[in-house]
Amino acid sequence: MIEYLKEDGIVHELDMATTAKKEFMESFINTILIPRNLEYKLQFTGPTGTNAVETALKLARMVKGRSNIVAFTNGYHGLSQGSLAVTGNNFYRDESHISRSNVTFMPYDGYFGDDADSLTIFRKYLEDGSSGLDLPAAVILETVQGEGGINVASKEWLQGVEALCREFDILLIIDDIQVGNGRTGDFFSFEFADINPDIVTLSKSIGGGLPMALILLKPELDQWKPGEHTGTFRGNNLAFVASKHLLTYWESDDLANAISHKENILKEKLEAIASKHSDYDIKIRGRGLVYGMETRSDSSVASEISTKAFEKGLIVETCGSEGQVVKFLPPLTISQEILEEGLEILSCAIDEVIQEKESRLKEEF
Ligand SMILES: *Cc1c(COP(=O)(O)O)cnc(C)c1O
Repeated sequence: MIEYLKEDGIVHELDMATTAKKEFMESFINTILIPRNLEYKLQFTGPTGTNAVETALKLARMVKGRSNIVAFTNGYHGLSQGSLAVTGNNFYRDESHISRSNVTFMPYDGYFGDDADSLTIFRKYLEDGSSGLDLPAAVILETVQGEGGINVASKEWLQGVEALCREFDILLIIDDIQVGNGRTGDFFSFEFADINPDIVTLSKSIGGGLPMALILLKPELDQWKPGEHTGTFRGNNLAFVASKHLLTYWESDDLANAISHKENILKEKLEAIASKHSDYDIKIRGRGLVYGMETRSDSSVASEISTKAFEKGLIVETCGSEGQVVKFLPPLTISQEILEEGLEILSCAIDEVIQEKESRLKEEF
């Protein structure tokens, strides 16, 4: 980026072509899309994730000529009005300032417990013309729900959603803003399920820390008229330069292998913590380097762990509908040493929180 600036590279160009944009697009196509046999057009949206979601929803509605969208329980897609309408989390929802018209929520994988197949409900609603569900233009989902509590969709469930979409002529939008870009170990979070979404949203880390968002769309969906969906900041050239450099990590399997190695360390440690404190019914789930630790016996434990860890120099956030899940999202490039140090701090924080809880209980008796 410093070199680009020194060479007087163009920083702002509205949505016109630049060399930086062209080079990013070529790298993305050659390094990411072609090796995965994926054929998409790239469309740059406004610079934040929610801009990409809005674009995806607008495009799907325009192409299908239908207004309804199906979203899933506990999903999170951003906080501008269209994205908020497909977001489940009640902390962000307020019907007094947004209208949720034309969005229907269906149960996400595991919503009714591990044994119930939530897709049978969705299928029934689609098959029954009087279910009250208007045929949606698209379904939007995260393969691992980040803000929603690290709920991990299975391969079978994702394949089932894709099959329903094909059968009923519905577009499949995967929101990979949080768990794409290597977070689950593969570049795209849906690769493991071998599905082929119609639209993919990308943002957050894709610009190397700079604001950048885009959608990938199947070529036949590009039915925009020229300039129909435009705006001022549609391509941050410095972010293109950074992103192009980041993509070189995907020229070999090294990063993916390192993520998988660090996943094992993270998972093992979290599981050891869970079994040490089995009274607290702690559940661990995740994929790649996104993991959650749900404290099921008492939802307030998660935020106490987060506070205690912070006092000890570790930032770890909570997620889930009641903030009942401690959320692990370390940098993909974290060293093993720092990861282990962080996990050690976490482990001490949990021990202390639980000790304090138990001595409070004793005092009460
Ligand atoms: C963060 C996020 C968004 C919204 O991105 P912003 O940049 O905050 O607007 C959308 N979808 C998912 C899955 C996210 O995690």
